[in-house]
Amino acid sequence: MQNTLQYAQQCDAEDPLAHVRQQFLIPTDSKGKSLIYLCGNSLGLQPRTTKEYIQQELNDWGKHGVEGHTDAKNPWLPYHEFLTKNMAEIVGAKPGEVVIMNTLTTNLHLMMVSFYQPTTTKYKIVVESDAFPSDKYAVESQLKFHGHNPKEGLILWKPREGEELCRFEDLEKIMANQGDEIALLMIGSTNYYTGQHFPLKKITELGHKHNAMVGFDLAHGAGNIQPNLHETGADFAVWCSYKYLNSGPGSLGGCFVHERHAKNDNLNRFAGWWGHNKTTRFNMRHEFDALEGAEGWQLSNPPILSMAAIRASLDVFAKAGFENLRTKSEKLTGYLEYLLDELNNDNINIITPRNKEERGCQLSIQVKSADKALHTKLTEAGVISDWREPDVIRVAPAPLYNSFEDVWEFVKRLKEVLL
Ligand SMILES: *Cc1c(COP(=O)(O)O)cnc(C)c1O
Repeated sequence: MQNTLQYAQQCDAEDPLAHVRQQFLIPTDSKGKSLIYLCGNSLGLQPRTTKEYIQQELNDWGKHGVEGHTDAKNPWLPYHEFLTKNMAEIVGAKPGEVVIMNTLTTNLHLMMVSFYQPTTTKYKIVVESDAFPSDKYAVESQLKFHGHNPKEGLILWKPREGEELCRFEDLEKIMANQGDEIALLMIGSTNYYTGQHFPLKKITELGHKHNAMVGFDLAHGAGNIQPNLHETGADFAVWCSYKYLNSGPGSLGGCFVHERHAKNDNLNRFAGWWGHNKTTRFNMRHEFDALEGAEGWQLSNPPILSMAAIRASLDVFAKAGFENLRTKSEKLTGYLEYLLDELNNDNINIITPRNKEERGCQLSIQVKSADKALHTKLTEAGVISDWREPDVIRVAPAPLYNSFEDVWEFVKRLKEVLL
């Protein structure tokens, strides 16, 4: 690798996915100049086709009214099914294991209703320390809902003193010591702060060995790494579609339920009519008869306009091919890492793992003795990144629309604002 603009441009010229960038709207500054957008871990960019996909549904609503449920070009009754195959491939699941519905935190609660069944002695939940706040609130409120004190019931899997990353051996230790009391492992597959990607299969096997359920939050994993959900054997997983999945602010989330639970009537569940047997759903008088698989957890008839945006985005992914994306992602983030190392600045410390297997596209850069002013300067220099207190810049070159030149420009501008 070389630290020159020419080299970055040459990588772009040789990148088989370079053309995909043209399929996205890249945000610009007030003069119309493209920004260096490295914030796909927070809100992914808009595919150019999104507008058409949504417009199609608006047109069909205008033209057909309620009949659009059956007569729209893409009928609304089964609309969520149009998303399933592509979504299942992105998370490595069987189609029956995946459904798009609700939003992430809502799905997390619904999954805990089914998969967190505490007893008086086995009731604790393990999360990684520095879990995303919403996940922590959800887990704490579930503990309280079941009459447990979150201070006793919540176990944090923490990095060791002086370290930033969590070690698997330490989770093993927690399970060896308290496994009898632990009912659920609820882990963010890729930590939002450090960018550390956890070994999902090993965690699942460890949890199951101690008779605990295991669920993952893929908010920072879906569309970024390949979690191979089916293969991991996890009981459930949830994710959102507006980060790496580019489906628009607040768009619907995804949910995975392993196929061994597909027909399990013994699980508690909060039910709604959209989870009911499709053939008798509109008779309206039947007892609840859950659909097999993840679909059986649906509550409401879903927002089609949001699903249209997801469909547009998943089509871009399907065309690019997830394996190709991952190959590019490793190169792109590897180049970012190389350039940051080339800065030779003792104040800069990459806290994300150096090993490609243990990270996605994001690097979390700790800048010692910096404060938010640094982030403001970067923004003024035309870089959209993300600041996390106390001293971390998160940058996520997304292989769908970021270029090697973006990465090179970012590091050049970072160097300038650090002077
Ligand atoms: C982004 C994110 C969320 C957001 O949850 P919503 O319910 O979609 O608002 C939750 N958990 C994690 C780990 C996230 O990264």
